[in-house]
Amino acid sequence: MLFWDSTYFVYMIPAFLLVMLAQFWVNSTYRKWSKVRNLNQISGAEAAKRLLNYGSLHHVRLEGTPTPLGDHYNPRSNTLKLSPGVAQGQSVASLAIAAHEIGHVLQDQQGYLPLRFRAALVPAVNIGSRLGLILIVAGLLIRGVFGTQMAWLGVGAFTLGAVFSLATLPVELDASSRARALLSNSGLIRSEEEKRGVNAVLNAAAFTYVAALAAAILQLLYWISLVIGGSRRRR
Ligand SMILES: [Zn+2]
Repeated sequence: MLFWDSTYFVYMIPAFLLVMLAQFWVNSTYRKWSKVRNLNQISGAEAAKRLLNYGSLHHVRLEGTPTPLGDHYNPRSNTLKLSPGVAQGQSVASLAIAAHEIGHVLQDQQGYLPLRFRAALVPAVNIGSRLGLILIVAGLLIRGVFGTQMAWLGVGAFTLGAVFSLATLPVELDASSRARALLSNSGLIRSEEEKRGVNAVLNAAAFTYVAALAAAILQLLYWISLVIGGSRRRR
């Protein structure tokens, strides 16, 4: 059966659980360390301002985003957006997240290749995820050699999504290691406890990207199994 396939759940339940686990971990770690004040008693917004000055990154504008943990840097508009909790909180978690985003600013400014590669993938991934499903479903319906080739082309389009998730990992890990160095070198964190908190928040955030990659691979494996199954049945 094409549209109701129990093997779908074999692949997607572990993917779903992994993503949920990652979300739970990052949320609980953030909650814990957002209650721990940093020794300098500065907010995430203040830390971002200081780090932008520290790195002479005067072209970057600091703005707010209402989405909780929706903090991000937009390289096209040179804007760094911090969520209210991070921007206003004088916590260890605020420092970790603000510094991580500054890490992305530095990557952009230095033309860090993995970041460019990931950005270049975005349009192809957007088209691929839409086209992939159409090609697979149409290919399996058309059948024959042409249909099978079409379905494999669809799998190829979905591969782009997994490649994007894979390309995201080094970018995020690098931004976090830049964040650790920035916070220590600028004197924004001073104690061992702060270091531990920063590491905990950044590691939990990194795991969400690992989970997303695993989910993308599992989804890809599902499509592969579907196309292989479909081409076998018609012989
Ligand atoms: Zn990031």
